Amino acid sequence: MTDTYTYPGPSVFGYETDGLRRVASISVHTSPLASLGGKDAGGMNVYVRELSCHVASQGLPVDIFTRRTSPDTPEVQTICDNVNLISIAAGPPEPVDKNTLHKYLPAFAEQMALYALRTGVRYDVIHAHYWLSGLTAELLKRYWNIPYTLMFHTTAHMKNRVSPAGEQETPLRAASEQRLVDMADSIIAANPDERADLIWRQHAIASKICTIPPGVDVDLFRPGNRSQCRQAVGIDENAKVVLFVGRIDPIKGIDTLLSAFAQVAEEVDDAVLAIVGGDLDDAGEPVGPLAVVRDRLIESGLIDRVRFYGSQPQDRLPVFYAAADVVSVPSRYESFGLVAVEAMACGVPVVASKAGGLIFTVEEGETGFLAPWDRPEAHAAAIASILRDSALADRMGRNGHAAAQRFSWQTVAAQVIHVYQRLAAGQRGNFCDKEEIFA
Ligand code: UDP
Repeated sequence: MTDTYTYPGPSVFGYETDGLRRVASISVHTSPLASLGGKDAGGMNVYVRELSCHVASQGLPVDIFTRRTSPDTPEVQTICDNVNLISIAAGPPEPVDKNTLHKYLPAFAEQMALYALRTGVRYDVIHAHYWLSGLTAELLKRYWNIPYTLMFHTTAHMKNRVSPAGEQETPLRAASEQRLVDMADSIIAANPDERADLIWRQHAIASKICTIPPGVDVDLFRPGNRSQCRQAVGIDENAKVVLFVGRIDPIKGIDTLLSAFAQVAEEVDDAVLAIVGGDLDDAGEPVGPLAVVRDRLIESGLIDRVRFYGSQPQDRLPVFYAAADVVSVPSRYESFGLVAVEAMACGVPVVASKAGGLIFTVEEGETGFLAPWDRPEAHAAAIASILRDSALADRMGRNGHAAAQRFSWQTVAAQVIHVYQRLAAGQRGNFCDKEEIFA
């Protein structure tokens, strides 16, 4: 039995809720403290951490619940002021593939309920992330009888349309998401495309889906001195640098990038590809999916023009962005695409796929270029045109920096609190008809 965490102020155990006092955020399959750029840790982890901290800084405390993956993790960790991360024992205390977590969800919900009883805390709203957490929130309604808002982050429906054979999401996920579309009290979509897909193809009630894009830390992601940053990451001052940042997963379109880069390398002398993300061994050699990327580059004779940096802590990324001439985001699908906006905030042009949230964040010809994910030659042409034209690159970089400022976390958190308030006040799915409320 671990020591019980003590919440400041009087215990709220036994009180009837009279408003919005504390939020339970659920991220069953991945922790906001996981190191980013690995297989299952990327934008969603950043989102849960940043949103919770900004919601708390606006006066609303948040407890984030995640599955315990090590016996040594403390039950409660403080992430920032008024945000606790609570490790819930459900299934073995070790990493487990997310596709096998479904069977542990009842135990997860039960342990969350017991935690609240033990500590005398109560929650007014749940914010669930990903379908596994959505099902958990649904189970918790039986214990707590409180509403929840759900963010899918991605859906099987949208992913399966573009995923290669063998990478299809499970029928269980697809069926569960369809049920959640019907059952959720509220859904937050990351972009208008996701909202439209949920309404038109998954038959969601439009008025329960609010579109609120994620935010970007515009204080962290700022333009930097290119030559100093190149020195810091060991890249030649005169090279033409194409940067990729992200998980090494087929959905991220790394295949497209490798084909595109082969063409860019032929056309642009000194073109270098820098890859941030994936795993390196102690000798700095790629392992796992990144080793497959390396082998392909050896086969195509391009390996000498590529640098692998592995996963990097987020606060180190501005140095990589500022060292780049162009950032490539070749994803097959992207619910938002934080990397594209981070690059823009750092004043770097982006060449991205015409997919999901990227369509709304990258402005064609202004902050970068968009190309279909399955047309590497179009990505290559766009990348080469930026590498060859420094005036174009400078203009796009300046525009991108200005455009990224509207994604500040303060604004995003205020919009999400608005959803929580409506839910806590008893409204259900009838307050998102007007997109402009959240514009
Ligand atoms: N990221 C990081 N270190 C890495 C790779 C990625 O901190 O080595 C962060 C990156 O800054 C971004 C997030 O992980 O905030 C990836 O989010 P994105 O929306 O681009 O992709 P997702 O992982 O959600 O598919």
